[in-house]
Amino acid sequence: MSPSETDLKRLIQNVPDFPREGINFKDVSPLLKDAVAFATAVSLMARAVEADEIDYVAGIEARGFILGSALANLLNLGFVPIRKPGKLPGEIIAQSYSLEYGESSLEMQRDAVPKGSNVLIVDDILATGGTAKSAAKLVERIGGRVVGFVFLASLEFLNGNKEIANYQQHTLLTYD
Ligand code: AMP
Repeated sequence: MSPSETDLKRLIQNVPDFPREGINFKDVSPLLKDAVAFATAVSLMARAVEADEIDYVAGIEARGFILGSALANLLNLGFVPIRKPGKLPGEIIAQSYSLEYGESSLEMQRDAVPKGSNVLIVDDILATGGTAKSAAKLVERIGGRVVGFVFLASLEFLNGNKEIANYQQHTLLTYD
């Protein structure tokens, strides 16, 4: 029997005051370590996007790489990385954003996807939505079309969904 939503949630560890005081960090490592839970999470993501026409799956560094590449593989699609600064070679574009805990920026290779491609963006947690919005901007700046987002979990009280309200959003688990 596959794990239920509650079982998956039980495998996401709450780490108070990490990486800063006041932040309740959701550590997905125990879920990823559990083979059945990991496979269930990825197949639920695949089911959530089954009606979408997707050409590429883009994952946001770092935990979006883990879920995104597994999902891309399951969907028989290629994977594209959206990375933290200074990691990608070649011609890159950058987009800065504010995090629940700080400021940062993301980068993509300018030729990461052919123009007009339909791109699904994957990450583990939707918090304030700044990361997701910045990822969408990058995909659009290189000529891709954002089909939507899929998250393992969303922290509803931070209203990140409003930042990406113009896009389709799928979330397996929610925290109020
Ligand atoms: P945000 O831009 O605020 O939506 O933050 C989302 C990004 O930061 C995702 O890549 C998450 O992995 C990470 N993140 C933000 N807040 C948390 C949290 N409370 N627990 C775990 N990851 C988080």
